[in-house]
This record gives sequence, structure tokens and C-alpha cells, in this order.
Amino acid sequence: MKYRKLAGEDVSVLGFGCMRFPLTDSSDVKTIDKEKSIEMIRYAIDHGVNYFDTAYVYHGEASESFLAEALGDRRKDVKIATKLPTWMVKTEDDFDRFLDEQLKRLKTDHIDFYLLHALDRDRVEKTVKPLKLIEKLNRAKAEGKIKHIGFSFHDDINAFKEIVDMNPDWEFCQLQFNYINTYYQAGLEGLEYAYKKGLNVIIMEPLLGGKLANPAPQVREKLDPSRTPAEWAFDYLWNREEVSITLSGMSLMDNVRDNISYAEKAEINMLSDADLNMLKSARAEFEKIALVPCTKCAYCMPCPFGLDIPGTFEIYNRSATQGVIAASEMYAELPVKADKCRKCKKCESVCPQSIKISQLMEKISADLG
Ligand code: SF4
Ligand code: SF4
Repeated sequence: MKYRKLAGEDVSVLGFGCMRFPLTDSSDVKTIDKEKSIEMIRYAIDHGVNYFDTAYVYHGEASESFLAEALGDRRKDVKIATKLPTWMVKTEDDFDRFLDEQLKRLKTDHIDFYLLHALDRDRVEKTVKPLKLIEKLNRAKAEGKIKHIGFSFHDDINAFKEIVDMNPDWEFCQLQFNYINTYYQAGLEGLEYAYKKGLNVIIMEPLLGGKLANPAPQVREKLDPSRTPAEWAFDYLWNREEVSITLSGMSLMDNVRDNISYAEKAEINMLSDADLNMLKSARAEFEKIALVPCTKCAYCMPCPFGLDIPGTFEIYNRSATQGVIAASEMYAELPVKADKCRKCKKCESVCPQSIKISQLMEKISADLG
């Protein structure tokens, strides 16, 4: 395993994202398949992965407790990152309430890396500033409950720069970035800006919810087959000096094995100009066929009316690559179809990609129903 610096600590270039563990019931994100997941976690630790990224809300709030159970006596061998669910913080007391609950769930006396989760301009103005969350982070750090403070981010580049600049004590940030999303949200400009300002950067969604591991044939054709599509996606990130850790939410033991084997070769400046131009042309193909930028994070689930929101978008996206007839056949198998959306917009208030879910459900129902 290769290691880089994150806030002065040595961390593996591959981080284990704890939001996509295998499930025993695919319709219920709380039903983590513990046996399979523990095997994956233990294998990762034994092969040098020392960074585990969870959050209060992952797996319907089951991820943190499960991670503690899975780590057991290996807690001392790893760094735990978790996040304050900023959209659930309503009063000044909530910060301590959530943090104390997270310490209990994680069965630990400190959290190595603590993030304000999914910051955007609106949350900064309505929650972070009025409820003095930066002061609270610094106080928790002084008390030893948190070792390092940072934030994860979903908004535009201007909001990103404002958030970086609002707090001189940030040590790191977490961005959505990959060879497709170079101009999306913070993008490449944000990555370079954060690094110049002294923040270490963690990358999330390196495979864009799996789309870059199994890309559409038009995209795959552009990629040199000497590496797998997933390997190209990871190498694009590890190639950059600004990147400390690339997170991967792994669901299969094969993913863990493959990603570790890629990480063992990670180097800064490992890609040539020809490689980077090839990835640019793959991006151009991807942009021609992308319909909905859903990353299958499942923050929007459960839908109170039973829709499988990411599953519906996946089928809709396939209509661009496999044709409308094939997608309509898959759509017909969905137990709850897009026309059952009641436009309550509960999902839209938490979607980090700002997808207009209710509008799209209407369109999907018209196109595939
Ligand atoms: S807007 Fe539609 S898809 Fe979203 S939570 Fe409400 S019913 Fe479900
Ligand atoms: S619709 Fe948004 S919140 Fe739901 S899975 Fe997709 S990206 Fe995540």
C-alpha cells in the first residue's frame, strides 16, 4: 500500500467508504451483510488500508455502529472519519448531542477526522454560522474528541472558495472529483485552490457511483485496455499531488482486492500526456450520453412512496446506452414506477447532486412507462 499525508498523518491512498456495504435485503439499506462486510474490512486492513470513512446517515444510520463492530480490536490500526449531518442540526446543542452519539456508536474516545457533512452556501448561512459550528469544532478538537477538522462539499466553485476561506483552521476537505467531473461542483479548480490554501484533499465518487468501473461501450472504447476502466479512473486521481486519499465505497470482495492492487501502484505523475488526452476523449463520449448525474449515494432513500430512486435513474440512464426498448423492459420490472411519485420533494432536499428528482420522475414515466 502507498501512503500520503493527510493533516500530518500517514494515510493509505485508498480509503474505505462505508456507505455501500453489501446488503442482505437489497430494498433496505440498513440490512448490512455483516459477514461479507467484515471479511472485506479485515482484508483491507491486512493489506494496508488505514482510513475508513463513514457518516451519521450512511446505511440508514447503521454504518457507524457496524464499523465499530467490524473493527473490534483493529480500531487502533486505522483512522476513522465521520461526519456531522449538518442538515439535521437545528440548535446549538445539537453539535454535542450528535458528536457524543457518534463517539458511542463508534465505541471510541476520539474521531480522527471529523467533517461537516455536505456543506453548501445555504447550509453555511443557515446552520454553520448562526449555530457557531466552527467554534464548536475547535472546542471539540481542544477537548480531544476530534483530532482533525474538515468538511465535505456539494455546491459550485464560488461557494467552495468562500467555505475554504471562511475558516483558517480547516485541515482538509472532501470533494467529488473524477475524470468526468472536472468542471462540476468544486472541480479541478477547487482541487487546486484547496491545495494552494494548505488543505489536504480527499476524493469521493472516484468512479461516479460505479459508472466509470462499468462504462457505456462508447466510453470504454476510448480507454486503453491495458488497464481496467476502474484503474484508469483511480490513476487519474492518484496522478495528482493535491490528492491525499481516494475513497471507494466497495460492495464486493473483488472490488476490495482490485482497488488495493491498483493502490499499490499509485504514484504522483504516473500518467503521460497521452493518457490524460485519452481520458479527456472518454469524458467527451460520456457527456454525450449522460442523462441523470445520479451517483447512487442513496441519501434520498427511503422514498415515503416506495420508489427506488437511484434504481429508476439507473434504468433511465441505460436508455441512452442500451436503447429505449431495453430500458423500458427493465422499467417494467420495477415494483413501484415513476408515476407513483407524489412530488413531496423530501428526496430533493438532501440530494447532493441537486437533481430535480420529482420533475425527472414525470419525464421517466412518460418516456419509459
Ligand atoms: S418527490 Fe417523489 S421520489 Fe422524491 S421522495 Fe417524494 S414521492 Fe419519492
Ligand atoms: S438521486 Fe441524488 S440522493 Fe438519490 S441516489 Fe441519486 S445522487 Fe444520491
